[in-house]
Amino acid sequence: MLPELFAIFGNPVSHSKSPMMHNFAFHTLKYNGCYGRYLLEDGARLKETFLSLGIYGANITVPHKEAAFEACDWCDEFANKVKAVNTIVLKNGKLHGYNTDGPGFLKAIDDFDNIKTILLLGAGGTAQATSMVLKDAGYKVTILNRTPARLEPFIQSGFECYDYNTLPKNTSFDLIANMTSAGLQDDNLPAPLSILEPLINNAYVCIDVIYGKETPFLKLARQASKPTRDGSAMLLNQGVLAFDYFTDHKFELKQIEQAMKIAFL
Ligand code: NDP
Repeated sequence: MLPELFAIFGNPVSHSKSPMMHNFAFHTLKYNGCYGRYLLEDGARLKETFLSLGIYGANITVPHKEAAFEACDWCDEFANKVKAVNTIVLKNGKLHGYNTDGPGFLKAIDDFDNIKTILLLGAGGTAQATSMVLKDAGYKVTILNRTPARLEPFIQSGFECYDYNTLPKNTSFDLIANMTSAGLQDDNLPAPLSILEPLINNAYVCIDVIYGKETPFLKLARQASKPTRDGSAMLLNQGVLAFDYFTDHKFELKQIEQAMKIAFL
């Protein structure tokens, strides 16, 4: 029997570890699936591309999560709330959309004690998904973004939001998370140094959702002697939940996690 095909769509996509994670899990759990990657330049072509490839499911990464939400025929309650989709499953010819980024990030920080306030750098799809989950879990979440207009949906949802010109001086947060794509393919910091330095100095911990490298943001935090963590834990957690949707809840989450972890050795 031919394997069920899955893929990750993004731009860039060559850095993605998702194919390795999912293929290890398919192999270990003896599920007849195969997972590849697809460089998608135009998010508006996501649906036709998905259908023309004959795949059964997909993950969506930067910068197409909002386009993926638009492309879906049906989304679950959480994806509808955050208007960003990172997991699509084909069901009866229809694209069903989910978002596993928020729960994935929440689990990735659950071992840090004494974190009450969180600053998210960035206001894209990942920040959308994560901010809601963190708020529901009881954290006080603030958003800082380069482009003020992109803060609008966060303001509508009741978050405290700032751009580089409006962030009050001497403000501090327990955890700072880089949710921009600055540092993914370049050496950019996610905000001007003059803003970042005092924020990092006053924080307990700094996290980047970019994985597999020390970004300029994490380097700055390490130089300030702060505990740091890259995006690997979030990546693993969101992947486990996506695999659970792809395989229609056939496996225990713990089993999937064990199988996927091999990709991080
Ligand atoms: P989006 O394209 O939706 O949003 C990008 C955000 O980054 C915007 O807020 C944008 O600000 C900001 N940004 C981009 N470049 C800069 C810069 N040079 N300086 C300041 N801000 C900048 O991206 P996503 O939300 O989908 O993804 C964000 C990051 O999260 C990516 O690096 C992605 O790889 C990573 N990620 C990791 C996951 C994991 O499992 N570890 C899961 C999901 C995402 P502006 O509005 O001003 O343009």
